[in-house]
Amino acid sequence: MTLMERLTSLYRVDQQLRGLQTRLDSAQRYFSGQQKQLDVVRERLEELRTRRRHHQARIGNFETEGATIDQQVEKFRNDLNSATTNKQYTAVLSELDTVKEARKKIDDDIVEEMEAIERIEEELGTVEGQEAERRKVLKVAEDQLTERREEIGSRLEELQLERETAASDIPASELAVFDEMANVHDGEAMATVEEVNRRHREYACSECNMHLPFERIVSLMDRNSGLVRCSACGRILLMQEELRGELTPK
Ligand SMILES: [Zn+2]
Repeated sequence: MTLMERLTSLYRVDQQLRGLQTRLDSAQRYFSGQQKQLDVVRERLEELRTRRRHHQARIGNFETEGATIDQQVEKFRNDLNSATTNKQYTAVLSELDTVKEARKKIDDDIVEEMEAIERIEEELGTVEGQEAERRKVLKVAEDQLTERREEIGSRLEELQLERETAASDIPASELAVFDEMANVHDGEAMATVEEVNRRHREYACSECNMHLPFERIVSLMDRNSGLVRCSACGRILLMQEELRGELTPK
């Protein structure tokens, strides 16, 4: 096989490989995207649950504080009953009013905390619903990915081996050019020669459509000339046998 024939075989297997890889990558990307969205919803859930715990802890503290005040109220009531002078009575009554006021303030604080918890729980309900939805979508994406892996995984391995074999047949410097062009042009490492006008010796690259100097066509006519590349896009040029035949002097 000539170098060009070997490059063409590599090109074909490389294209199939890239096609399959792209299908697998898109399933993988979809799955990762869904995973990320689920993570965002879960973070929000975690945040809401943490906030709820803080409010619950504060209610606990208020209740402890309230119980202490209740004991004080109880004590002042007893003092009130055992007061012997009017002055004593008035003094205790004033203290009792103060602690009752404090008790009321704590009750209000507890109500506020409970209202905050209610609001959080309402949002939690919504976000939990979103999480369930996202989990379902993620499961579908995961199944698709698994299915695609099973469906094309073994073919992908075969093609990878085929590509290695085809590549091993090509000298290192030419292979480096091929790989570079394939990476730059999304797998389109090669282009054919388009005849624009034979009489005017006008030829163009089939991929980038740029004009090809006639010397490149002359080089391509020589099967042993090595790699000939498009002067504009750098792709490896391939001359169709049909065109070669027509251009060969009879
Ligand atoms: Zn080109």
